[in-house]
Amino acid sequence: MAGEQEAQSATLQRVRLTSSLRSRGIRDSRTLNAIGEVPRELFIDESLSREAYCDGPLPIGEGQTISQPYVVALMLEALALSGKECVLEIGAGSGYQTALLCALARRVESIERHESLAQEADRRLRALGCRNYTIHVADGTQGWPDGAPYDGIIVSAAAPSTPKPYLAQLTSGGRCVIPVGDRERQTLLLLVKHGRKIHERDLGAVRFVPLVGAHGWSENEG
Ligand code: SAH
Repeated sequence: MAGEQEAQSATLQRVRLTSSLRSRGIRDSRTLNAIGEVPRELFIDESLSREAYCDGPLPIGEGQTISQPYVVALMLEALALSGKECVLEIGAGSGYQTALLCALARRVESIERHESLAQEADRRLRALGCRNYTIHVADGTQGWPDGAPYDGIIVSAAAPSTPKPYLAQLTSGGRCVIPVGDRERQTLLLLVKHGRKIHERDLGAVRFVPLVGAHGWSENEG
């Protein structure tokens, strides 16, 4: 009975979350539907489950955070997915955004540098019945050449500049969303590749954990 009540309350909270995202300007119905379906409480520690549907980031271990739902929605909407795409995700973290991508795209390659996070994310995604993804433990600043080219690349950690491999691994017409800036503050960029040209759009100010790797920040950089 208590479990049933909790499930009902989570469903209600997801309805509230999607309507608040809509009122903040998110329009893409597929993105909103996916956020309305995926149980965010399953991707965080049980002790934080009361905060699962607050529109903010939460700790997930290894000094990392699950991203704020509004920012996740903004990034997913910017990818403009129809369901046929092959997408590369950098920074699986909790796996929450991976679950949304599984609902929105045909195939998801995801990279996470912390093995413990990757394993936990994989366990949760399997339990939810997601099958169209693989999480690789690697330095995601190199992209994932084996699955390239990608229709979309979504980067959930902040880069000092766009890693070159991402642009090389995009299809023509492909879209990349990435926070670029310093370690404290960044601008969320949408990059759209047209042949050899890249069109850039500013989606606003954001704050992400650092992208650590060969084409990102070094581990101990201040
Ligand atoms: N979308 C995730 C956000 C996780 S935070 C979620 O909703 O939970 C960003 C993640 O990027 C962290 O888990 C961090 O370990 C990972 N990360 C940072 N640099 C990385 C790199 N070079 N390659 C892969 N993952 C990286």
